[in-house]
Amino acid sequence: MNKIEHIGIAVKNIEESGRLYEKLLNTSVYKTEEVSGEAVFTAFLQSGPNKIELLEATSEDSAIKKFIETRGEGLHHIAFDVDDIEAEMQRLKAEGFILLNEKPKIGADNKLVCFVHPKSTSGVLIELCQERK
Ligand code: ZN
Repeated sequence: MNKIEHIGIAVKNIEESGRLYEKLLNTSVYKTEEVSGEAVFTAFLQSGPNKIELLEATSEDSAIKKFIETRGEGLHHIAFDVDDIEAEMQRLKAEGFILLNEKPKIGADNKLVCFVHPKSTSGVLIELCQERK
C-alpha cells in the first residue's frame, strides 16, 4: 500500500461542513461529486499534500446515513492509495481481512475502490483506491 490518499468524514450537511472545513483549512472545496453507487455526495478539500473527503448521504439507505444515525458525524474512513487494487484485495483476503465488496467499485475522484470491514481492522473502515487509467 502507498500513502494515505484521503480521509473521509461523514457529515449531515455538506454545504455547511464544506464551509466549515474551508475556514478550518483556509482553502476552498475544489471538487464536488455525487457517487450514485454509494448514495453519497462528496466534497474534496486539499491541505498541503493531504485530501479530505466530506460525505453526505443522498438516500435513506445510504451507509453514511446509517453511520451518522449510530455514531454521529465524524471520521468515517481512511483511504490508502494502491497500485493494483485487485492484487491488494487478494492479499488482504488471504490475510483474513473482510472485504465489503468482491470486486473493485467505481468511487469518487475517478478511482476504483474497495472497502475493508472495520470489524477486521480494529474499528476503522479502510478504503483502498486505485487511480483509473
Ligand atoms: Zn473515500
